[in-house]
Amino acid sequence: MDHFNYRNGELFAEDVSVAEIAKKVGTPFYCYSTATLERHFKVFSEAFDGANALVCFAVKANSNLAVIRTLARLGAGADVVSEGELKRALAAGIPASKIVFSGVGKRPWEMEAALKAGIHQFNVESEPEIRVLSDVASRLGMEAPVAFRVNPDVDAKTHAKISTGKAENKFGVPWQDVSRIYGEAAKLPGIRIQGVDVHIGSQLTDLDPFNNAFHRVRELVMQLRQEGHDITQVDLGGGLGIPYDGTIPPSPLSYGAVALEAMGNLGVQLIFEPGRLIVGNAGILVSEVIYVKQGAERKFVILDAAMNDLIRPAMYDGYHHIDTIIAPTGDVELEEADVVGPVCETGDTFAKGRKLPPVAAGDLVAFRSAGAYGAVMASTYNTRPLVPEVLVKGDQFEVIRARPSLDELLQLDNVPAWLDND
Ligand SMILES: *Cc1c(COP(=O)(O)O)cnc(C)c1O
Repeated sequence: MDHFNYRNGELFAEDVSVAEIAKKVGTPFYCYSTATLERHFKVFSEAFDGANALVCFAVKANSNLAVIRTLARLGAGADVVSEGELKRALAAGIPASKIVFSGVGKRPWEMEAALKAGIHQFNVESEPEIRVLSDVASRLGMEAPVAFRVNPDVDAKTHAKISTGKAENKFGVPWQDVSRIYGEAAKLPGIRIQGVDVHIGSQLTDLDPFNNAFHRVRELVMQLRQEGHDITQVDLGGGLGIPYDGTIPPSPLSYGAVALEAMGNLGVQLIFEPGRLIVGNAGILVSEVIYVKQGAERKFVILDAAMNDLIRPAMYDGYHHIDTIIAPTGDVELEEADVVGPVCETGDTFAKGRKLPPVAAGDLVAFRSAGAYGAVMASTYNTRPLVPEVLVKGDQFEVIRARPSLDELLQLDNVPAWLDND
């Protein structure tokens, strides 16, 4: 459920007309709904009511400070994957004690920043990484709280590019080596083993892979305890899917039930790292139709948004529902069109043969479910300025990241003096 609805035939974000925002900000732009963000965070958290659970928003899904701050005020923790994200989470008001640090390629200075901040946990993904972390922590006279991310070798049954829990993926430590790796790590200076971590992929629409992975983790926790490790933390990652194309994924409540059943009476703190589920449906990308072009074989609707603004369709075959800002009347006949952007690549296609109400140049459309992995993955390809972001709350809205000017964009480049003397 979200708070983007038609009122009197016009799309609103909460109590604000989307067309009004477009008039003020220009298109394309991302628009987020506070009420939707809050609702999703609460629904997810409520699935663990009464359990000892920490919900760490996966900052990589949407790292705007205003978005993180909205969640911080509800008590969210953060899952970060870089020093930059750590800085964002702290700046947005998330206490270090609720921050976990994931990722396969942490650098020493990133570890140092996280140790000095006093984060809750490092999710370590390899033996070389634990040795570097041990060195950094020892040098600082500190102790790093550690969980290893384990690779349970389960098929998440999601898109190959966002599947992370198979033995062939780069993530986590191999299942057959877990016991040895924990044993060796426990002897390293500056390391305090406290947990187990797993994250098998993103946009999962089936509970079975979660159930399999969680039960494997449960067995592992019992085994590691027998081997003498004090396991107090189990991080079950993120990955619960959202409805993009009409497929209804399991509810947070049933996901929670699977997690709690698998972890029941282990007596650990559970950590969750949802990203997409919190922000996905809380955002839309608003764009204007530039041209409608009749090709030799098909009709093209050419938008002012492009793959550099929203790359999910080009990168993962991601589906986004596309709505016109003016609601179609009941008797309108839908027409098939390819919806494309202006970037000079055939990959810059949002949808093929999509049935849409008839649109004309100047009309506004909204890509639904664009709040996760949208703005954060935007680039300036084709020298298009980064797309701005707007946050709505009730009848208020504010630009939470402005569109840079072309001059600002060009100023990022440097022309060497040797090119400058004529
Ligand atoms: C990407 C990621 C998440 C968030 O995944 P969602 O599918 O957005 O919930 C959580 N944990 C880790 C380690 C990740 O890499």
